[in-house]
Amino acid sequence: MAIERTFSIIKPDAVSATKIGAVISKLETGGLRVIASRMVHLTGDQARRFYAVHKDRPFYGALVKFMTEGPIVVQVLEGENAIARNREVMGATNPAEAADGTIRKELGTNIERNAVHGSDGPDTARQEIAFFFPECDLPPAE
Ligand code: ADP
Ligand code: MG
Repeated sequence: MAIERTFSIIKPDAVSATKIGAVISKLETGGLRVIASRMVHLTGDQARRFYAVHKDRPFYGALVKFMTEGPIVVQVLEGENAIARNREVMGATNPAEAADGTIRKELGTNIERNAVHGSDGPDTARQEIAFFFPECDLPPAE
């Protein structure tokens, strides 16, 4: 297995519920290391660009509104198989369908307000990391 990097967001619902620590605890217990982190409050334009892949989906407008309602934590995670590992620790998109012990099961409210984002593959991980973190803010790759 390879050491990978992936991109993670602690969404506005989890931040406003003071669950930043709970999310990071799950990620770290799951074998992921936070190697870069920053709190930001997305503008509408930034949220629309970040989620542009979903621009034709019916939930796009609501998603952009949700993601801009308050501050978020953007972070880069590193570890063995980090992309898939993070998706496992997060759980299914819909908290009602997420496995016990996952972040979304424990901290998510519904299919929109689901506490965390995680990249879904190597290409999106690279793009999403670059969207928020200049190379100079990241430790050198192993
Ligand atoms: P994931 O975050 O698990 O990769 P998607 O990429 O499909 O899921 O969707 C991006 C985000 O859009 C989800 O995390 C969730 O916040 C929101 N979302 C997805 N599907 C729906 C839906 N059917 N209704 C409302 N919001 C949704
Ligand atoms: Mg996705």
